[in-house]
Amino acid sequence: MSVSIVSRSAWGARPWNGTPASVSLSSRTEFFIHWYGGIPAHSSGTALPRDVERLHINGNGWAGVGYNFIIGQDGTIYEGRGWGLQGAHCPGFNISGFGVLIAVGKGGEKASDKALAAARALYDEACRRTGRTLAKKGHSDGLATECPGPDLLAWVRAGMPAAGYEAPPSGGSGWDGVSFPGASAFQLGKSHPAVTKLGERLIAHGYGRFYKVGPGPTFGQADKDATQAFQKAQGWSGADADGYPGAETWKRLLAAPKQAAAPKSTTVALNSAVKPGATHAQVKDLQRLLVKAGYGPIPGAYTTLYGTETQKAVARFHNKNPHLSSGSYDPAIGPKGFIELQKEAG
Ligand SMILES: [Zn+2]
Repeated sequence: MSVSIVSRSAWGARPWNGTPASVSLSSRTEFFIHWYGGIPAHSSGTALPRDVERLHINGNGWAGVGYNFIIGQDGTIYEGRGWGLQGAHCPGFNISGFGVLIAVGKGGEKASDKALAAARALYDEACRRTGRTLAKKGHSDGLATECPGPDLLAWVRAGMPAAGYEAPPSGGSGWDGVSFPGASAFQLGKSHPAVTKLGERLIAHGYGRFYKVGPGPTFGQADKDATQAFQKAQGWSGADADGYPGAETWKRLLAAPKQAAAPKSTTVALNSAVKPGATHAQVKDLQRLLVKAGYGPIPGAYTTLYGTETQKAVARFHNKNPHLSSGSYDPAIGPKGFIELQKEAG
């Protein structure tokens, strides 16, 4: 069952009475079921969301329909706050929880199979979009209330079964929300909950500039470009930086972002007494820098003596940097060379 949702404009919603706050998909952890409470005047058709809207704006003074979605007895789903706006359906849970009304009330009518199947499909879609298994709740799990009534609450407790309805393979994919989901999760134009996670982690690592919208569950060019930029920043190239996340990319993305680079440590000037054969405290620093930059080994290091092994290492540095060298074998580090060596050693 695919989830089609009648948009606010399609059912004739009034303009927002104020500005509902935005909520990111990553903030969502729960899915709340509500009933109408009273006896609904309309249990299907666009009159249903309009009735709720009138109650919520005129009666409660809210911005509009307080639920994220409203489901009619014919199985039609109407957009309220939708996927991205904060609801007004259960105090304390309006950010973490999606709120969904099913149009049955105290008249004793049962939710239809179509309404339950639509609610279940919407739940699976919510899990797919958020990349996690949302907790199934009734309104009374968040607040002392009769809502959603005994029948719907029992249905929630039973795990929201829907006759003849099978969860889409990607919905209950069994993906744990953390592990690398496999390369097949990342195909252009294909959806997988891990793609939402990928986008969120790329943004956390500073690659948000690639996203005009989203991130979402469908792997698109923005995901691929952001992934490739991240891969190149790891020093990778070729197939390792193709924009498709592999296990190592995934691991690094899920790790905490590196702190912004510390301000460059100031370089230290070379003491003029540091010369081949001399003894000076700074020779130890010179040796450490030579080894760290890859000009080791220096047998006997670290000492204060600028001995022959240290001289050889300096000569190796000069071979690599002939512009700093006075000849084919130059064992004497100079002031410029010492600065350059500090840069090379990081
Ligand atoms: Zn409720």
